[in-house]
Amino acid sequence: MSSSVIDLVATEARFGAHNYEPIGVVLSRGEGVWVWDIEGNRYLDCLSAYSAVNQGHCHPKILAAMVEQARRLTLTSRAFRNDQLALFYEEIAALTGSHKVLPMNSGAEAVESAIKSVRKWGYEVKGVPDGQAEIIVCANNFHGRTLGIVGFSTDPETRTHFGPFAPGFKIIPFGDAAALEDAITPNTVAFLVEPIQGEAGVIIPPAGYFTEVRELCTANNLMLVLDEIQTGLGRTGRLLAEQHEGIEADVTLLGKALSGGFYPVSAVLSNNEVLGTLRPGQHGSTFGGNPLACAVARAAIRVLVEEGMIENAARQGARFLEGLKDIRANTIREVRGRGLMLAVELHPEAGRARRYCEALQGKGILAKDTHQQTIRIAPPLVITSDQVDWALERLATTLTQDLS
Ligand SMILES: *Cc1c(COP(=O)(O)O)cnc(C)c1O
Repeated sequence: MSSSVIDLVATEARFGAHNYEPIGVVLSRGEGVWVWDIEGNRYLDCLSAYSAVNQGHCHPKILAAMVEQARRLTLTSRAFRNDQLALFYEEIAALTGSHKVLPMNSGAEAVESAIKSVRKWGYEVKGVPDGQAEIIVCANNFHGRTLGIVGFSTDPETRTHFGPFAPGFKIIPFGDAAALEDAITPNTVAFLVEPIQGEAGVIIPPAGYFTEVRELCTANNLMLVLDEIQTGLGRTGRLLAEQHEGIEADVTLLGKALSGGFYPVSAVLSNNEVLGTLRPGQHGSTFGGNPLACAVARAAIRVLVEEGMIENAARQGARFLEGLKDIRANTIREVRGRGLMLAVELHPEAGRARRYCEALQGKGILAKDTHQQTIRIAPPLVITSDQVDWALERLATTLTQDLS
């Protein structure tokens, strides 16, 4: 006998920490853009696990690589070498034009590792006095959930009663290059920023912002650290979101879709100087760079490129954005997006975005609200034109309802 939705929800509530409030669907299978619940209902996934399944659910080639590697060797620790790590380094470096790679597991670990590395670079290369390094970050950032990271969040929900926090971070408004210039001191080692603020509600900075940011970082000898954990790997219609502005970060953070959703894999990519400061014994991770992770990541980036998913994200993203803009509904305040990283912001009078996400579930679409008023739409990058049109029809009927 299979469990019922009610049993499983009650069991979760009884034994689990209540740190999430999921939409009321219990999923048991996925393929491409589709997922199925335990009763057999099919949904178009418009969240893609926060962009971790850009390649689509259970991509057969990534699955094959994972199974094949799992049969041979899964974990050696970095005390010994494995035959996948070098190939992962070589392929990700060639793809992104990076010089050095540090493999980790979760996105937050990549962010923490970057913070440690740029501080070390600051002391050992830039010559900042010990203990004085400053890192500039943006208001409404989302970089993960570890203590170091939530300490420089501006979201009260994220921070409250988790302190005390580490010093050394300065917060400036996102999209404001003059604010960055004002915040820089001789002790600034890095500017850590998302190319598009995802969790904040798909906030796209003004055109030219990152060109100015790049110039300021170069002129003041500080490292530009781009958190591309959500925007990277095709989501915005380019391999990396930085390419929209024709700039190059000094340090790039990848995670999420780096495994196509099969396994936690993240990476810090940098120029020679920053990761070059790490020497044996100074940083590490038991699972970081394990052969299973490397084999999965190699397959995940191979299919992303070989199957044209990045170009498809640009093409279908433009179609989706146009379609959303064509919806005439009093509920809609603004539609935003780049590639398949899209959002519909509702008027406060329209009621909470959560209600619309629940209504969409009834029509076979799974989407997630963020910050009360915004519905984010980010399907896997394998979505077709017909599927985009199918989703737009359902979004149009849902958004023209008044659910306040
Ligand atoms: C999801 C995310 C992270 C954190 O990744 P985890 O794997 O959840 O630790 C960091 N930065 C950005 C921009 C993200 O979207």
